[in-house]
Amino acid sequence: MGSAASLCTTTCPYCGVGCGVDVSLGRNNDGQPMIDSLQGSPEHPANHGKLCIKGSKLQQTNRLEHRLLVPRIAGQEVGWQQAIEKVAAGFSDAIARHGPDAVAFYVSGQLLTEDYYVANKLMKGYIGSANIDTNSRLCMSSAVAGYKRAFGADAMPCCYEDLEQTELLILVGSNAAWTHPVLYQRMERAKQLNPALKLVNIDPRQTATTELADLHLAIRPGTDVVLFNGLLAYLAAHELLDRDFIEGHTQGIERALAKAAEWPLERVANTCDLPVKDLRLFYRWFADSSSALSFFSMGVNQSTSGTDKVNAIINCHLASGKIGKPGSGPFSITGQPNAMGGREVGGLATLLAAHLDLHSAAHRQLLQDYWQSPTMAHKAGLPAVELFQQMAQGKIKALWIMGTNPMVSLPDSNLVRQALKRCELVVVSDCVAHNDTLALAHVQLPAATWSEKDGTVTNSERRISRQRGFLPPPGQAMPDWQILCAVARAMGFSGFDFGHPGEIFDEYARLTGLENQGRRALDISALAGLTHSEYDRLAPVQWPVSAKSRQGSKRLFTDGHFYTPDGRANFVALDYQPPQQRTDQAFPYVLNSGRIRDQWHTMTRTGQAAELMQHEDRPWLRIHPQDAATLGLAGGQLAALSARHCQGQQVILPVKLDAGVRRGELFAPMHWNGQFASHGAIGSLFAPLSDPYSFQPGLKHAAVAVEPV
Ligand code: SF4
Repeated sequence: MGSAASLCTTTCPYCGVGCGVDVSLGRNNDGQPMIDSLQGSPEHPANHGKLCIKGSKLQQTNRLEHRLLVPRIAGQEVGWQQAIEKVAAGFSDAIARHGPDAVAFYVSGQLLTEDYYVANKLMKGYIGSANIDTNSRLCMSSAVAGYKRAFGADAMPCCYEDLEQTELLILVGSNAAWTHPVLYQRMERAKQLNPALKLVNIDPRQTATTELADLHLAIRPGTDVVLFNGLLAYLAAHELLDRDFIEGHTQGIERALAKAAEWPLERVANTCDLPVKDLRLFYRWFADSSSALSFFSMGVNQSTSGTDKVNAIINCHLASGKIGKPGSGPFSITGQPNAMGGREVGGLATLLAAHLDLHSAAHRQLLQDYWQSPTMAHKAGLPAVELFQQMAQGKIKALWIMGTNPMVSLPDSNLVRQALKRCELVVVSDCVAHNDTLALAHVQLPAATWSEKDGTVTNSERRISRQRGFLPPPGQAMPDWQILCAVARAMGFSGFDFGHPGEIFDEYARLTGLENQGRRALDISALAGLTHSEYDRLAPVQWPVSAKSRQGSKRLFTDGHFYTPDGRANFVALDYQPPQQRTDQAFPYVLNSGRIRDQWHTMTRTGQAAELMQHEDRPWLRIHPQDAATLGLAGGQLAALSARHCQGQQVILPVKLDAGVRRGELFAPMHWNGQFASHGAIGSLFAPLSDPYSFQPGLKHAAVAVEPV
């Protein structure tokens, strides 16, 4: 082992908290740089020196023996030139024969913003299709759609400091203790410092997070719109609306109130399956608190009515004026480290870069002129679930998957397998050598990963941070943006001559400053023109970072102006839509899926770390003890799960008895992939049903049958 030589600050590549990480570098016996140790960065505003266990074990998750080191075609090692030519020719040929909408990219919130920017530019401005979607579709697209409906832009208004400044913290569909542990630690500290702070946990399950809660509302799954419509009705009935704010800064409350009025307390209690006294207490706390923060995550977003849930929450903040102020607002917490950075540069099939509107001819023209590109996508592309459905029907001929494992993470994994088998050319670029999706790739491209590549990410509080490369990529691995540029050039496109990620960031930053006929949410134009060394030293900063706010912006809407054409926020009138997949006699249980404390997504990296397997070393099925008794299941016994669309295929899991799971409901972790278990992916049990506005699939609500094995 060598001695420590230098310190590098970067960010953790896992969740949307976006913690800063200080890495001490040394040299191994061969003189090669290596990580000596790492710790949370005390200077980083997201974590102030803290890391959760996933971040603290990053050293163990980058092991050479698991890496894809050389490009491969049909399993045979090839040189980069051959691989690039193969991908470029395959895409060009599919486009020539079937048009630009016959090809697609499926990318990842693991990509850095610069990678995302180049991928989006290539697909939308040069290939001429909007068929670029991302696993962030599974993470926060309902929040995006909800913010756009209410505020006129994908503009999350809050900041982490609000956790310490609020009087009422409402966690909706979030087990933050396991999924966003560093923010949960901030909540714990906030409660210690201010015992009057109240915490309400809205979650069908009792989780590790519930331990901190003053009130747990174990809501019937999928009824969040009813709960928040009820809150809006309560505020109106008790004359607790903030009339000045509503009249000065919003529109549409009458219709929203008319819908909410259908939900008096007792009806809400019946529908949500909650005690009236608990509901009344929650509503009273919300009304009496001068500030309230609704911290929401996958339990809200991953739903067939996720966008309505988001707007139901936002409606209550607008009605009470609890927005744009310290400690108040609807705070979407993203799962992915760069879900927000990706959407900023248009990395969803329904967006353009820099919050330009794909449906506006003027915006499309502005972007095409800026890129000087030969074409421009003129309609929305296929969102993730539909993309794979269309592929299974033979309509997508060439697909490039970057840094994600849809065989495990998407719903109905059997359909995903069929789709990949039907596709003429499947390219996968990834840092690992083996996963369920790579196994079906015709071309495998070795990508650089955390610690090896440079760029930026944006965390859940709009904070742009540098992720820094301090180790050389092993083998022939390259950063994603370089691979994309090489393919674009091989397809004959100019506009991809970037020599440094700072040049990509600069092009993006300048784009955000262009006049675009509207009030602009995303503006980082003050960060344009950085030299490479200024880009390298870039300190974490929250957008907007414009001429007016060079130090960045903690909160949005502090002036009561929103990004709609008239500056007023929109109330959305909401009907309750039950989950699209209903239980019945044959499939009587509701299955929920989610994360455990020490694993990340499909475990392709965290599964390599022995210490991260100590907390939970195998998947399980949590079930209420009385349901287990009814089914004849004992703790530890194997249970078989099946769903109607699975056509007899089963997922086998050992049972864990858990009185914190509601009767008639089940919970299983999402992570385990084919490398770690042969039980079948949990995702296969979820039908490919999506929210009609955000197209986010409902990964929290499958109707399943359970039986002893
Ligand atoms: Fe990484 Fe998230 Fe843990 Fe922070 S909280 S160390 S970003 S996984």
